Amino acid sequence: MNTKSFVQNLNQITTTLISMTPAQREVVHQSIRASQVEMPTNELFQPIFDTSSSCPHCTSTHLRKWGKSGETQRYRCNHCAKTFNIKTKTPLARLRKCHLWEEYAR
Ligand SMILES: [Zn+2]
Repeated sequence: MNTKSFVQNLNQITTTLISMTPAQREVVHQSIRASQVEMPTNELFQPIFDTSSSCPHCTSTHLRKWGKSGETQRYRCNHCAKTFNIKTKTPLARLRKCHLWEEYAR
């Protein structure tokens, strides 16, 4: 969807939503939530990591890929030789079932 048609759609949706009762809006809200596909945590973090990839231990940017643990790409720092993944030093590090955290946080 290009920007122009997005804005047109948005205006139309907003107008429609404003004309609804709060109960009707809640129905719309629920059906949007029901249709949303859960985004895996890796897909959420990987683009951020790709744009600013640096070692979480020493901030060096000289990294190499170092195998995978499950679905998560591991990296090894050429500078300090430590390994890490995109979740190292984030609150999600070492957590299992990361995908459940988003739901829990909500
Ligand atoms: Zn390092």
